[in-house]
Amino acid sequence: MPSSVPPHGGKLTELIVDADGAAELRALSRDFPSWDLTPRQLCDLELLLSGGFSPLEGFLCRADYEGVCQDMRLASGALWPIPVVLDVPEETAKALDRGTTLALRDFEGVMLAVLHVEEVWQPDRAAECEHVYGSTNGEHPGVAYVTQSTNPWYVGGRLEGLQLPHHYDFVELRLAPAQLRERFVALGWRQVVAFQTRNPMHRAHQELTFRAARELQANLLIHPVVGMTKPGDVDHYTRVRCYQAIATHYPRNTVMLSLLPLAMRMGGPREAILHAIIRKNHGCTHLIVGRDHAGPGSDSTGKPFYGPYEAQELLRKHEEELGLRMVPFRMMVYLAERDAYVGEDEVPDGAAAKTLSGTQLRQRLADGRDIPAWFSFPEVVEELRRTYPPKSRQGFTVFFTGLPSSGKSTLANVLMVKLLEMGGRPVTLLDGDLVRKHLSSELGFSKEHRDINIRRIGFVASEITKNRGIALCAPIAPYESVRKEVRDMIAPRGGFVLIHVATPLAVCEKRDRKGLFAKARAGIIKEFTGISDPYEEPTDADMAIDTTDLAPEECVQEIVLHLEKEGYIGLGSGV
Ligand code: ADP
Ligand code: ADP
Repeated sequence: MPSSVPPHGGKLTELIVDADGAAELRALSRDFPSWDLTPRQLCDLELLLSGGFSPLEGFLCRADYEGVCQDMRLASGALWPIPVVLDVPEETAKALDRGTTLALRDFEGVMLAVLHVEEVWQPDRAAECEHVYGSTNGEHPGVAYVTQSTNPWYVGGRLEGLQLPHHYDFVELRLAPAQLRERFVALGWRQVVAFQTRNPMHRAHQELTFRAARELQANLLIHPVVGMTKPGDVDHYTRVRCYQAIATHYPRNTVMLSLLPLAMRMGGPREAILHAIIRKNHGCTHLIVGRDHAGPGSDSTGKPFYGPYEAQELLRKHEEELGLRMVPFRMMVYLAERDAYVGEDEVPDGAAAKTLSGTQLRQRLADGRDIPAWFSFPEVVEELRRTYPPKSRQGFTVFFTGLPSSGKSTLANVLMVKLLEMGGRPVTLLDGDLVRKHLSSELGFSKEHRDINIRRIGFVASEITKNRGIALCAPIAPYESVRKEVRDMIAPRGGFVLIHVATPLAVCEKRDRKGLFAKARAGIIKEFTGISDPYEEPTDADMAIDTTDLAPEECVQEIVLHLEKEGYIGLGSGV
C-alpha cells in the first residue's frame, strides 16, 4: 500500500544515478571543472538529491529563480517559496558555460554530484532579500547570509548525484524521504503530523505535539533541523540527545524521530511553506505551525521581522493546493492553577500564565539556577546542563593589554597562582615574551606581525576556553581591531575579560625592568611601543588598572573580585 501523500509535483525526484552511471561520471570527471560546496550548499544538495526538495531537479535557473522570488512560483507554475541556488565567485563563473559539466565536491574533495550547467548569471541580491524575506536589514540572518556570505554569481542546471553527503553522527536517525515513507507504510501510519524544530524540546512542545497527534488520531514525526539553523542556537548534538530523551514521554509506537539536513533561512512565512513542502515529500500529512514559525525574532529597534502568526496565515492560503494540512497552534503557556499548558488565548482573565524564554533559560543555566519542573523534563535539563555548565565551570580568558613594563606579566603571574590556589580548572599562562619565544619566534614588531602574534594567542586561548580551562594572556597587543577579533573569537566559547593595565608611560619608563626603554630612546631598538610605535588604548576594557601606586596583590584582588562578580569564579570553583 503506497503512502497516501503524493510528493510535491507528483513524484519524488531522487537524483542519485545507478552504479554504472556513477562509475561513468567518475571516469569522465578528470576533465570536469570542480566546485567545493559551502556548508549551506552541501545541505541544499542533500535535500535535492534525496527528493526532499521535490520537484526540483537541480539548482534553480534564472526564470525559476525570478518566479520564486517574485511570485513563489517555479516556471512550471508549481509553488516554491525560497530560491535554492548555487552561488560561485566570478572566476569560477567565468569558466562555466551552458553545457559545462561541473563536479560538485564536499570539503574533503569527494565528488558528490555533477551539475549540467544551463545558466550562469549575476542576480540582484538586494531584490532577492526584499522579495523573499520582506527586508534588506542585515540583522535578519537570511538577509545577512544572502548579502554577506553568498557569492555574486548563480549557476543553474540539472543535477546527477553520485552519493549523498556522508554523515558520521546519528546515522540511524537520518531517514531520507523514501526511507521515511517506507517506514510509515510498514508501520501502517496513514496520518503523520510533523513537528519542525531548531530548539531543544520542553514540556510546552511535548504537550502541543501530543495534543495535535491525539486530536487528529495521527502519529507524530519529530523532525528537527540539523543542517544549519540560526547562529547561536543550541548545537544539534545536544538537541538530538534532548529529543531522544523526550521521545520516551509519548505513548509507545506513536512517535518517531528523524533528522532533517536542511539549511534554514529563518524566512518566517515563506519558510513555513518550504517546511510544508519538505514534510509532504517525506510522507507527512500534517505540519504543526506555532507562533513566529521559523522567525528570526526582532531587529535591534525591537521591531519583529514578521507578525507572530504571519506564517500560519500564508500557509493557510496554500494548504489546499499543497494537500498537506497545517495544525496551527497559539503560543502555549503554563497555567499553574490547572497545572496544564494552554494556548495564550485560552488564559482566563486574571490568571497568571508562565513561560520561560530561550534567553531566560540560558541565564538560569549560566547561573546554575533551578529549571522549574513545569518548564521541562529532568533528562532534558540534564543534557542542557552538560553542554552549558554554570559560568563557574566554563572556561574563560583574561587578556591583559598595556605598555611594556606596565605590569601585565607580573599581574598575570600573580593571578595564575591565585587561580591555581582555588583549583578546579587548568590554568595556562600565555605571556608575551614566552609566546614570542615558542609560538611566534619568526615574527617581528611590524603591525602585520604584531597582529599575527595576537591572533595566534587568541586562537590558543579560544581552544583552552572552549575546553573549559583558564587562559591568561599578557601581550602588549597595541591594536584595537585585533583585540576585538580575539574577543569575538573567544567570547562565544566561554568568558572573555579584557584588562587594560593603564600604568602611565612615564611610570613604565622609569621602571624599565628590562632596560628596553633606554635602548629605544637611544634608537637601538626600533618600533618600541610607547616610544617609536603606537599604543591604541582600549575603548572596551572590562577593567582598567593603573599599577603606579598599588601592589600587585592589590591589583589582582580587584581582578578576582571582578571575576567573582561576573560569575566565573564562585561556589564550586574553590574551597
Ligand atoms: P522554528 O520555528 O524556528 O523552527 P522552534 O524550534 O522554536 O523554532 O519552534 C518549532 C515550532 O514550534 C514552531 O512552529 C513554533 O512556532 C512552535 N513553538 C515553539 N514554542 C512554542 C510554544 N511555546 N507554543 C506553541 N508553539 C511553539
Ligand atoms: P609587562 O609585562 O607589562 O611588560 P612586567 O610585569 O614585566 O610588565 O613589569 C612590570 C614591573 O612593574 C615589574 O618590575 C613589577 O615588579 C613592577 N610593578 C610595580 N607595581 C606593580 C603592580 N602593582 N603591578 C604590576 N607590576 C608592578
